[in-house]
Amino acid sequence: MQPGVVVVGGGHNGLVAAAYLAGAGLAVQLFERRPFVGGAATTQELWPGFKFMPCAHMVHAIHPRIIRELGLRERGVEFIDRPNGFRFWDDGTYIAPAFVDSPRNRAHRWSAGERAAIRRFEDFARTLRHVFAPFRLQEPPSLEQVRADVAGTPAEAALELALTTRLKTLFDQWLPTPAVRDRYAVLLAGDGGNPLALALAYASINAPDDETGEAPPNGYVRGGLGAFSNAIAEVARERGATIHTGRAVEQLLVEQARVIGVRLEGGEEVRADIVLSNLDPKRTFLRLVPAGQLDAGFRRRVAALPTGESCVKLLAVVAELPRWKDWDGDPELPSRGAVALQESEAHLAAIWVDIDARRPPHAPIINVAVPSTLDPSLTQPGYHTVSCYIYPAPSHLRDQRWEEAREPMAQRLIDQITAYAPNFRQSIRHYRLRTPTDLEGEEGLTDGCITHVAHSGDHLFWNRPLPELAHYRTPLGGLYLCGAGQHPGGEVSGQPGHNAAQAVLRDLERAH
Ligand SMILES: Cc1cc2nc3c(=O)[nH]c(=O)nc-3n(C[C@H](O)[C@H](O)[C@H](O)COP(=O)(O)OP(=O)(O)OC[C@H]3O[C@@H](n4cnc5c(N)ncnc54)[C@H](O)[C@@H]3O)c2cc1C
Repeated sequence: MQPGVVVVGGGHNGLVAAAYLAGAGLAVQLFERRPFVGGAATTQELWPGFKFMPCAHMVHAIHPRIIRELGLRERGVEFIDRPNGFRFWDDGTYIAPAFVDSPRNRAHRWSAGERAAIRRFEDFARTLRHVFAPFRLQEPPSLEQVRADVAGTPAEAALELALTTRLKTLFDQWLPTPAVRDRYAVLLAGDGGNPLALALAYASINAPDDETGEAPPNGYVRGGLGAFSNAIAEVARERGATIHTGRAVEQLLVEQARVIGVRLEGGEEVRADIVLSNLDPKRTFLRLVPAGQLDAGFRRRVAALPTGESCVKLLAVVAELPRWKDWDGDPELPSRGAVALQESEAHLAAIWVDIDARRPPHAPIINVAVPSTLDPSLTQPGYHTVSCYIYPAPSHLRDQRWEEAREPMAQRLIDQITAYAPNFRQSIRHYRLRTPTDLEGEEGLTDGCITHVAHSGDHLFWNRPLPELAHYRTPLGGLYLCGAGQHPGGEVSGQPGHNAAQAVLRDLERAH
């Protein structure tokens, strides 16, 4: 008889793992606590006729091989390209991907020294991406393996620098002017505002397929990310998996350091030879595993994983597109891409003061996207759906609850966007601000951490989320992790789910 598998959680990674394992002939049951699958990759109709993605709204990291192997395009999943980012600053300047021959475009103002600095920084980041890209659909490499791979090549020095240098130091050494530092300021959005430079290697998750050269889709999914998650669920079901929604797992059943199944809320027990958890590591080990089944030191290490940075999302129905006052190209173009506001070194420094004080960031980075410009199925004629992503924000506040901060923060954000697009406030017909508390309560993300564990430079690859968990296996026999807390990381990528399924299949093969 084929081994029985339970997947806990129907986020897109749990679904990908279920689809691969069912495809290999295993008897898979998946339990999702909400009435629908998708986790942080869903579409929801927040107001009649207006569909939103309450969490992730764009894709850039779904590996083309996963799309092919699951037959997602054949199943009707349609990816829509989106122009890359626009950045507007409050001095009336911008950087835009499309060529606009305007003195406002900072790209036309760079001095020779600034251009050289940008080239050097980009070369460094590209080198790191190339070093790590081949490991995406595999168990992560060891540091020794990567060092051996790059020994004697130009990448050797880049790797050592990335392992030993914080980004702010690199900024100070390499980026000569405030304008160039603003260009890269967003890189200081994670990890206490000063990640290890190795964090740049995380972008290898977006690299083209090594075999075919095909790049991952970069943009939206028609119908929103719910269409993507639902299609994977369909594949898993067709391959024989059973997907139960509205069934929360309360506890993992453990006997002699081995997981033997799960107990659902309500008390029903389901036996399994193998259990995969799509939940973040804190939720898996500190909530689902009975206390006493894990070494106290291990539990402390899990409890200390970085999850304290979250985000807020402002979702709105508008009657007209934002008119960006300093943009002098095609007026609709920025809304077809995504517009970043307040992305400067000074703002980042102030944001981190707010986060350290655990208060809502006063002038955060705001990323404004309008998915309905490229996907009219999300809206009604004459209206657009605006999806603003505001990262980072503190998970928990010191002097108030997020519930109390919700409306003042929404109003402040609307004012800040209106300062760049004067028609924005009056164009709003409906709006909702989602807070870290919502992400924790509704999506089940510990501390509202959007990638399950921060993508800090020191929790990637061989150390994601910890060295003893980096290979999808855990200290408990039969228990695997398949969510965003695993290599190569968060985002809508399907890669941790794919890799965890391969680890299970490899272990089964070895055992027989
Ligand atoms: C606000 C926000 C914006 C984001 N924006 C983007 C973006 O634009 N692009 C991008 O690529 N990424 C984005 N991300 C990141 C990305 O969405 C996530 O990293 C990714 O979706 C995580 O997928 P997952 O399957 O690993 O886990 P999850 O999606 O977290 O799925 C875990 C599942 O487990 C379920 N669950 C929890 N507890 C139990 C239980 N006890 N029993 C049963 N089921 C349980 C949950 O309900 C959930 O369905 C964003 C995330 C957030 C929160």
